Amino acid sequence: MSKIRFEAISESAKRESKTIEESGRRSELFCANVFNEHKMLQYLTKDALESVQGAIFSGTKIDRKIADQVAEAMKAWAISMGATHYTHWFQPLTGSTAEKHDAFFDLLPDGTALEKFGGGQLVQQEPDASSFPSGGIRNTFEARGYTAWDPTSPAFIYGTTLCIPTVFVSYTGEALDNKAPLLRALHAVDEAATAVAKYFDKTVAKVNATLGWEQEYFLIDKALAHSRLDIVLTGRTLIGHTAAKGQQLDDHYFGVIPNRVLGFMSELEQECTKLGIPVKTRHNEVAPNQFELAPVFEEANLAIDHNLLLMDVMEKVADKHGFKVLFHEKPFADINGSGKHNNWSLATDTGVNLLSPGSTPMKNLQFLTFFVNTIKAVDTYEELLRSSIASASNDHRLGANEAPPAIFSIFVGSQLSRVLDELEGVSQGKLSPEEKTELKLNVVGKIPEILLDNTDRNRTSPFAFTGNKFEMRGVGSKTNCAKPMTIINTIVAKQLRDFKKEVDALVDKKSLKKDEAIFNVLREYIKTSKRIRFDGDGYSEDWEKEAKRRKLSNNKTTPEALKVLTKKETLELFKVTKVMSEVEVKARQEVELDTYILHLQIEGRVLNELVYNHIIPAAIEYQNKLMQNVIGLKDIYGAAHKKLADGQLTILEEIAEHMVSLKKLTDNMTDARKKANKLKESAKKANAYCENVKPYFDEIRYHCDKLEQLIDNQLWPLTKYRELLFIK
Ligand code: ADP
Ligand code: MG
Repeated sequence: MSKIRFEAISESAKRESKTIEESGRRSELFCANVFNEHKMLQYLTKDALESVQGAIFSGTKIDRKIADQVAEAMKAWAISMGATHYTHWFQPLTGSTAEKHDAFFDLLPDGTALEKFGGGQLVQQEPDASSFPSGGIRNTFEARGYTAWDPTSPAFIYGTTLCIPTVFVSYTGEALDNKAPLLRALHAVDEAATAVAKYFDKTVAKVNATLGWEQEYFLIDKALAHSRLDIVLTGRTLIGHTAAKGQQLDDHYFGVIPNRVLGFMSELEQECTKLGIPVKTRHNEVAPNQFELAPVFEEANLAIDHNLLLMDVMEKVADKHGFKVLFHEKPFADINGSGKHNNWSLATDTGVNLLSPGSTPMKNLQFLTFFVNTIKAVDTYEELLRSSIASASNDHRLGANEAPPAIFSIFVGSQLSRVLDELEGVSQGKLSPEEKTELKLNVVGKIPEILLDNTDRNRTSPFAFTGNKFEMRGVGSKTNCAKPMTIINTIVAKQLRDFKKEVDALVDKKSLKKDEAIFNVLREYIKTSKRIRFDGDGYSEDWEKEAKRRKLSNNKTTPEALKVLTKKETLELFKVTKVMSEVEVKARQEVELDTYILHLQIEGRVLNELVYNHIIPAAIEYQNKLMQNVIGLKDIYGAAHKKLADGQLTILEEIAEHMVSLKKLTDNMTDARKKANKLKESAKKANAYCENVKPYFDEIRYHCDKLEQLIDNQLWPLTKYRELLFIK
């Protein structure tokens, strides 16, 4: 066995199972490390508290004096908790989070030391962030970037650092991150949804988008993971023959969680609890070593910060327990990859879930309004929604029959389909009193509070209504949820604005009653958005054909999917909702394309290294062993050796053939890569990588995996799937 593989495996074997220590009640720990309203109540004056609450509720500005007070309070609390540093925590377009730590410690001109942190440091910082991708924004405007406090997401202490959630923008105001557009989208949907919710309840003053994500991931033994260059550098295995046992027995799904993993999970849950991440469920997923974790849903901005923080905490806790977490969407061939379902809804400040059917016809009309408008929004902007989850790694899943297809459609279930069909039949214009009563009692009034057939919902649908929320299923496990959440909230905001205009016009011009006008507009939407509704098998070939007939987009690759971002209608949408300017959208497209290129570039290079420096040398070594054996047989048996060495000779030839193909394919891939690198325009370069470079990956893999099967186990240089995938 190769030395590195041997060492990795023996280190893993030495690791003992840690016992689980659940200390105390989790509810007592909840938010221990968060500067939430409860802490503010203790540390802030009434004025300051009200000012922060105002900023959270309606986005009002916090003036400098108050900011100074808040900073002073945060500092006092943080230092009492043992914090020594603070950081503006932000979400650059790379997809993860970034932080630069500064010490509270400072010196006065006379040399006296003190702990310093004022409103200035709280509200705004200028990280030296010139290396973060900006898609050309900074060059265009020669503007520096700064981070600015987001008071809607509370500061927290992580380790010994006070982390302050911030947006990252250029001095000319362009968003350089994923959070700023998200906050604008949330504002847009709040405004539009509140206006519509007022049709039903005048007291509604705010609508929050809610998000409950479900995070899937793989856990791999750390030493074993580090023994593989591809896992370390790309987050996935680029080669590796399937283990004799994969997920076919389904014995991992919801099975007993291994002890070592439980140790990791309980520490993780403790950490999350202290940070205010309301983690609730944990279980084994379908693939071996795959797990899922889900929290109670929260306001979307906070939920997104929590998901990003969670991924970071997971990596750190895993490291302590001798694991490496893989967030990649497809770390292993032939077994399921990982996703991150995004459960989304809208909730009023009066405590009503707008996507939950109620007990009265009026509540149900409100439900139907938001339900149908969401369907209409997704129908109009299906391609844009698809683009929000596009990435090199997620391309492995979308459309690969284990995750929803790259085609967006909506599952509503048979009960609601019936309701929509009946509504569609309602006559136009004014309704007779009988018609109205019939409608309210027998159609709208009949929507059950609990939708039975939605409990057994269609798992192949990318956008499913699950009883009181929509579940977006194609989101990648690595993806920053801010991206899809920005889009869904923007398109629903735009749709609700249009809806309100149409309803108001019918009331004003045609003197319809409000509910009649609502029925009229909804009926039109139901008619015109029919193509997006699909309750059948999303994995089937028939659906692909049918979707094409319905003119739904089916963009299978990232470069294809990203094109829609700069279409006229998209730019217009972002402009009217004030979510992003043209410059900001184009910059994002550019960054996404560059990220795509970089990922494939790195994968190509790693594959090249694996083939030349690991696989071919191992193959040669084994060939030599076989040749010596054949020569030895010849020495002893003379001409009779041919018959005796028949097996060896065949293997020798097979190895040689695979090596010839492997070398040729690898060299061709490198040539294709060099050609692609010469292209200047990102879109063209991404296309070249997608069409001319990527196809080699699978072909190269094929020969490597064949060689893995042929070559002596002891000589194989890479840790194998069966060694990686079964944690005991
Ligand atoms: P699944 O069967 O897909 O695993 P679960 O019922 O386990 O679904 O997960 C439900 C998820 O939906 C949880 O993460 C929960 O927080 C979230 N959720 C429930 N209600 C809402 C809501 N109103 N808004 C957003 N998310 C919600
Ligand atoms: Mg789910």
